[in-house]
Amino acid sequence: MCGIFGIVGFEPVAPRLVAAAERLQSRGDHSTGVATFDGKLFWDHGGLGPASTVFQNYDLGQLRGAVGIAHTRYATTGGGTKEQLLRNRQPVASDRPGLRTCANGDLVNLLSARKHLMSKGYTFQTEVDAKVIQNYLIEHLLERKAHEECDDETYAARLFDAVRDLHKDLVGAYSVVTVTERGLLAFKDPHGIRPACVAFRERPGDMFGSREVAFASESSVFNYFGDYHDIREIEPGEMIFVDAKTLRVHQDRVTDAKGAFCFFEFVYFARPDSKFKGRVVEAARRDLGRVLAADFADHKSRVDVVLGVPGTGVSAGVEMARQWGIPFENGIIKVGAKRSFQETSQEKREKAIDEKFMFIKEFVDGKRVAVVDDSNVRGTTARKMARRLFDLGAKEVHLYYFCPKVIGPCYYGIDTPDESKLVAAGRTDAEIREFVGATSVNYISIEGLIRGLNLPKAELCLACVTKNYPTTIVDALERTTLRNQEQMSCAEWPA
Ligand code: SF4
Repeated sequence: MCGIFGIVGFEPVAPRLVAAAERLQSRGDHSTGVATFDGKLFWDHGGLGPASTVFQNYDLGQLRGAVGIAHTRYATTGGGTKEQLLRNRQPVASDRPGLRTCANGDLVNLLSARKHLMSKGYTFQTEVDAKVIQNYLIEHLLERKAHEECDDETYAARLFDAVRDLHKDLVGAYSVVTVTERGLLAFKDPHGIRPACVAFRERPGDMFGSREVAFASESSVFNYFGDYHDIREIEPGEMIFVDAKTLRVHQDRVTDAKGAFCFFEFVYFARPDSKFKGRVVEAARRDLGRVLAADFADHKSRVDVVLGVPGTGVSAGVEMARQWGIPFENGIIKVGAKRSFQETSQEKREKAIDEKFMFIKEFVDGKRVAVVDDSNVRGTTARKMARRLFDLGAKEVHLYYFCPKVIGPCYYGIDTPDESKLVAAGRTDAEIREFVGATSVNYISIEGLIRGLNLPKAELCLACVTKNYPTTIVDALERTTLRNQEQMSCAEWPA
């Protein structure tokens, strides 16, 4: 999971690119990078850590131009060591043709795609999907003679043909922004698994009414800036190119696109103020709490108080308590902003959880406590939560999740690569309860999830809770093995 952002419009774009990266840091902060183009030259800056570190004391005037992209990275491969993280930061670069690319998502066939490119003479100094995507784009752009002199309509058509060709080569999830020497290209895989939206902004006082165009992983970035409009999700398989000189927008879409948007964005990943498919994330979480309350209505007599795990479980917890007519207490306090899934080893994940939450004893001592959280993936948070609450005097601890049991790995960019690490995979309810040490563990059903999200099931990726993957996964094993090997070497990376 990563954050991407792009702007084509009015110089300078660098301050907005860095501000956007800061707003997307919840999607990853292993590295942050920005690239711009001034009509002649590309300008790049990036490094390890969040934007506040990477751009501290950096003169943004060095990032020249009216077009640029930014990336915040959560490493799913190429993140085993500090050196790897540095080498694999994005945007990735190409000089002939001149391109800069950021991507969010994982290619299922990354390794075979890379081997294919190497057989054609491409070399790799990085392990990231974005480089493979960019090289396939280059390959097809050269075939389509996109670099030859032509008007912007013809150029856009050649770009789109190249992306169509790339769609046939690459399997998996990818939301991409690419700076070319003529403008900014954005596209998604044919299933639109990972998010990306587009928005527009007028320049104050511009007599020609020209509009800047921007792309972001999450619409919350545009809420922050406050001056964008017509914000919408890019459709599965959609391609958008904006000419940097004219700001003319060209659009097209692959015809056989079949949407499979990651439901986990609603449950866990996305910021609460983001909106996907017309649904505000926080409202969806609240509605999932309502479904939990209805589907476990017979549990309310077992519970004295409801708590919510910050920051995703609170609105669902408040709603469940309201529906049950039971007090909600703010008894779990989050300290620090780091999300435990972003830790690259189990040991660090456990430490992060220990340091992440404080509990208010007076709200739980002697009580039968219900705790609402988004999901129970590895069981790490659940086990620690149950232990802490019992230590503080809780008589019973009942855990409720508004994500169904996660039983399958994600091959599309989320760090749940191996079934053996999933607490619900192959375990009965009693075994899960025993593993986490709670009085009861309760999950929303898949039907309940769909009801709460209020979105068509056919438009969602539910693969990690159903094991029905929207793409072929035949090449996934090789990549999973690589990732597991890298994670064994993660101890070198400071937490
Ligand atoms: Fe999202 Fe799960 Fe699909 Fe991965 S497998 S994209 S986490 S819904």
